[in-house]
Amino acid sequence: MPKVVTTTVEFPYRRSLGPVVGRFVAELARGRIVGARSGERVLAPPLEYDPDTGAATGELVEVGPGGTVRSWTWVGQPDTRHPLSRPFAFALIQLDGADTSMVHAVDAGSEAAMSTGMRVVARFRAEPGGRPDDLAFFVPEGAEPTGEEPATVSAAEAAARAGDEPVTPVETMEFWSSLAYQEALNPAAQRYADSMLAGRILGQRCPTCGKTYVPPRDFCPVDGIRLDESHDVVLPDRGVITNFTIVTPVQYPGQKETEPFVRVSVLLDEADALLGLQPVVGIPNEEVRVGMRVEAAWLPEAERNAEEFGNRGWGSTTGAIAGWRPTGEPDLPVERYIDRVF
Ligand SMILES: [Zn+2]
Repeated sequence: MPKVVTTTVEFPYRRSLGPVVGRFVAELARGRIVGARSGERVLAPPLEYDPDTGAATGELVEVGPGGTVRSWTWVGQPDTRHPLSRPFAFALIQLDGADTSMVHAVDAGSEAAMSTGMRVVARFRAEPGGRPDDLAFFVPEGAEPTGEEPATVSAAEAAARAGDEPVTPVETMEFWSSLAYQEALNPAAQRYADSMLAGRILGQRCPTCGKTYVPPRDFCPVDGIRLDESHDVVLPDRGVITNFTIVTPVQYPGQKETEPFVRVSVLLDEADALLGLQPVVGIPNEEVRVGMRVEAAWLPEAERNAEEFGNRGWGSTTGAIAGWRPTGEPDLPVERYIDRVF
């Protein structure tokens, strides 16, 4: 059974909303939902252009806050990015006064409470954030939310709170983009991960060119031939630093480092390819140098984990090795490594 690794790519960005969506979002803070008039129809949610004709839409008009469920599906096990953490329905809801339907969540409590044609009414965030999800979810007409989170109010309560403040369109919003994907470790990556958990660094030696790669990849990139488990070799957990860089961290979202840190490439004894982007332990950044002999500082076996081992990269040791520490042996000649790239 191959180990499955989950990779999450996340980044924030700021987007402008434009006059139509910006007004739509601003009105939500007052408990009002607007649609865009286009010919005889009202589109809700509002769009800048009618998707059927490509023509620009006209004035914004109030719709809802009640509507009719036109179609729905039950979400029994919500994940962290769903609008509700309790089971709910995604529904196509045609708001009163609108000719199109919007996709939104219905907090109905149970699948049995859902039906096509049922009446629902909007709930608005008690603390509006100037975002489309200030329209939090819908509930069956006459019903209350089935949970506390997120805290919401009715359209009338939101309107009373907002009073007569003029509506200023929301110009920009912060958006957190997140994509998580899963893949099975390939056999070579699986053997490498298993060996690292056991405190051994696995490489692979090509019988044709004689070069030794780390981690094993089940092919030789020089000869283009297949390799397999029979070509695996256990490598010494010591080697030499062939290059390094000192990173001064910029505080972008997700950056956990606050102080300058060093990353080195390590050429293991008996290997021909480098382990890249390795941390160093036991010495200050300014003492790191090309030619320095180092050895692996293994984490205690009980603390090792394989979460960072994937199918790509330059041979991660994260989760098994804390970093590389000087052995105290004399340096090797810089000239031997200074022009080395891989
Ligand atoms: Zn080869």
